[in-house]
Amino acid sequence: METKKKDIRALTKEQLRQFFVEHGDKAFRGNQVYEWLWQKSAHTFDAMTNVSKETRQMLEENFVINHIRVDQMQRSSDGTIKNAVRLHDGLVVESVLIPTETRTTACVSSQVGCSLDCRFCATARMKRMRNLNPDEIYDQVVAIDNESRLYFDRPLSNIVFMGMGEPLMNYNNVLKAIEMITSPEGLGMSPRRITVSTSGVPKMIKKMADEEVKFRLAVSLHSAIDEVRTSIMPFNATFPLKDLREALEYWYSKTKNRITYEYVVWKGINDTREAVDALVKFCKFAPSKVNLIEYNPIDDGEFQQASMDAVEMYRSILESNGITVTVRRSRGKDIDAACGQLANKS
Ligand code: SAH
Repeated sequence: METKKKDIRALTKEQLRQFFVEHGDKAFRGNQVYEWLWQKSAHTFDAMTNVSKETRQMLEENFVINHIRVDQMQRSSDGTIKNAVRLHDGLVVESVLIPTETRTTACVSSQVGCSLDCRFCATARMKRMRNLNPDEIYDQVVAIDNESRLYFDRPLSNIVFMGMGEPLMNYNNVLKAIEMITSPEGLGMSPRRITVSTSGVPKMIKKMADEEVKFRLAVSLHSAIDEVRTSIMPFNATFPLKDLREALEYWYSKTKNRITYEYVVWKGINDTREAVDALVKFCKFAPSKVNLIEYNPIDDGEFQQASMDAVEMYRSILESNGITVTVRRSRGKDIDAACGQLANKS
């Protein structure tokens, strides 16, 4: 009977060292292989050229490297790149490279599909199939770093967990991936250039605060009025604003990090003075930034971007209350790579 081979990147460095000792080799061999697996991002055991042929064979017999494969790459007229990424079990997720004058940002997925049910988001229409493993998240970053070097002559500079899925519902794997992305034994990126975006899972926000993580937090708020938020993000009924706010206060008290809010202004939903006042009241307790993001239509017009006047009203009221505001244009819309459009269409 064939036993199922283990994903070698599920092992810690210590476990890998242990494996070699148990197989009559030196612990140091584990360090070498670990370096190939993460820092050098080897796709095969055969690529590990400073490891003997017998050792590579032995690894082959015991393990697999579940490297992702970029199945399809699409380029937008604005430079944005979308990767359709195939996982070892055939499932597909998407990640996006967003170039600006000075930076390259990777937008990565944390789950296949999503278990939340935001009514304006295309990913919500795919049910959640599974969580991504740390190495599958890491590989998406590596793929985009390679593309950034190839097409823009510079390394990747920022990462946002704003692709498919809810990162805080795959908490352990997302944190493990970030650990490797920031480790000198991985990509050595600064955690300050990484943003985890959440729809708001209070318990997990508190847990992150307790673990004193160094990356940034963004919250997809869209409304600071429970009734309205529940109507567009039904899970808000389970995690109401009061609990979210309490968790964010805890986060701020521990990290002293500014909080970013993602916010779309829709016609007839939250384009009122009352909605802005509620937002100001919600986020005033800590230094905040509100990203007013453009709506990317995903359907027949149930949701519509509010007028420029409404967006301007938000901007001026927020600013007069000392809240930083950015009005963000969408990127990569022509290839369905913009916020909320990731749904494995092709
Ligand atoms: N689940 C996490 C990570 C996804 S981030 C979260 O909710 O934060 C994707 C971002 O795009 C979120 O801010 C989401 O609210 C926003 N979004 C979803 N659908 C959108 C759409 N059609 N147009 C613009 N933004 C959208």
